[in-house]
Amino acid sequence: MTMQRGLLWWVSHHRNHHRSTDTVKDCHSPVAHGLYRAHMGWVWNCFDYDPKLVKDLMRYPELIWINRFYILPAIITIIVIFILGEWLGTDSTTTISGGQFVTWGYLVPMAVCLHATYAINSVCHLWGYRRYETSDNSKNNLLIALLMLGEGWHNNHHKFPYSANMGISRYEIDIGYLLLKFLGVMGIIWNIKTYEKSDIGK
Ligand SMILES: [Zn+2]
Ligand SMILES: [Zn+2]
Repeated sequence: MTMQRGLLWWVSHHRNHHRSTDTVKDCHSPVAHGLYRAHMGWVWNCFDYDPKLVKDLMRYPELIWINRFYILPAIITIIVIFILGEWLGTDSTTTISGGQFVTWGYLVPMAVCLHATYAINSVCHLWGYRRYETSDNSKNNLLIALLMLGEGWHNNHHKFPYSANMGISRYEIDIGYLLLKFLGVMGIIWNIKTYEKSDIGK
């Protein structure tokens, strides 16, 4: 929805990030490539992706389709929001317009979401505290954790990359994980994997 390229593209780069964190092979490491490239420049620097890293996902034609036409959901949303704004604007007692709706209903939230997402790669490899002495420069950052619903507990994430829950202590709240748990209770998702409690201190 924020035009962050395709799903396979994202997963491929993310898996590569975990394989070679904070080395020159890591597309968005602020340690290896500087802050600007880690934050947003990498999207253009790494415009292609390695399909070998997402072989398991290539079995799903719907994922290949949405990876190719990733721009479509956003375009459809923009058109619908614009038409809604124009339609509401036909009421002469309001000053609503399609452009106004697209700006506040799509462009501003998209920019905020993009930069919050980018900040995980840039900010969370520079500023914050380290619960675990991982081999990379990942940090836990409270501000980004609040903005990105838990993903800012990035040092925890690098320690337990398979875990749906990125918070370790009670105050490291992972809102994304709570949402996943809710979807689990509703029977929409299952087999939610998290770290073992006994591994926390290791
Ligand atoms: Zn990272
Ligand atoms: Zn990750």
